[in-house]
Amino acid sequence: MSITSNINELHKELDPIGVQLIAISKTKPNEDILEAYNAGQRAFGENQVQELVAKYEELPKDIEWHLVGHLQTNKVKYIAPFVHLIHSVDSLKVLEEINKHALKNNRIIDCLLQVFIADEDTKFGLDHAELIELFRDEAFSTLKNIRIRGLMGIASNTENERIVKEEFYELKMLFDGIKATYFRKEDSFDTLSMGMSSDYTLAIEQGSNMVRLGSTIFGKRVIKHYKNN
Ligand SMILES: *Cc1c(COP(=O)(O)O)cnc(C)c1O
Repeated sequence: MSITSNINELHKELDPIGVQLIAISKTKPNEDILEAYNAGQRAFGENQVQELVAKYEELPKDIEWHLVGHLQTNKVKYIAPFVHLIHSVDSLKVLEEINKHALKNNRIIDCLLQVFIADEDTKFGLDHAELIELFRDEAFSTLKNIRIRGLMGIASNTENERIVKEEFYELKMLFDGIKATYFRKEDSFDTLSMGMSSDYTLAIEQGSNMVRLGSTIFGKRVIKHYKNN
């Protein structure tokens, strides 16, 4: 299967059910991204700030760039001018920094809060209590240049479908609860980013409306060890 046919097949599957496809292009060369682009794909995601910035500079300017990997406060300034959606916000501190640089760039930056749902301790994200603490914090309500669009989560890396399903279910319930409690009047809280190549069908069954697919589109990645950015 070519990248072009993978993109076409996925859009045929996802567009009618209102699920947005983010093509995760980390480690992939520009020519692969351009092939997906020429098939009509516009939303691409990276997990490293440096790689995201380099690709933004080299590739067509109507690409919507998503950051899906951990974001440190000192890296926010590099992506603030152009980033379309940050999926991986996991603290009020990072959110404040994004707000500061969004203001400098005279924009409002869309963000998702990453929630920890996996039963592994290697993954980033807020737990339920931290999430609610953040919404209740007075400092949060003063941030006018960020817009919280929803939640993101990464399920456990396991063959056990029941566990993955439960984790997605739990995140959907949390999403609905947060929406009803803190975003009742804001239609823009509308995005639930969950599902990767191995589990996106399960994620959609549980209510995901944004999936982040890398290997399903571009093929397997060569295993590479990245330092966390
Ligand atoms: C790499 C990555 C993906 C895509 O992974 P695939 O298994 O290749 O689909 C999705 N989300 C995040 C946060 C990632 O880092």
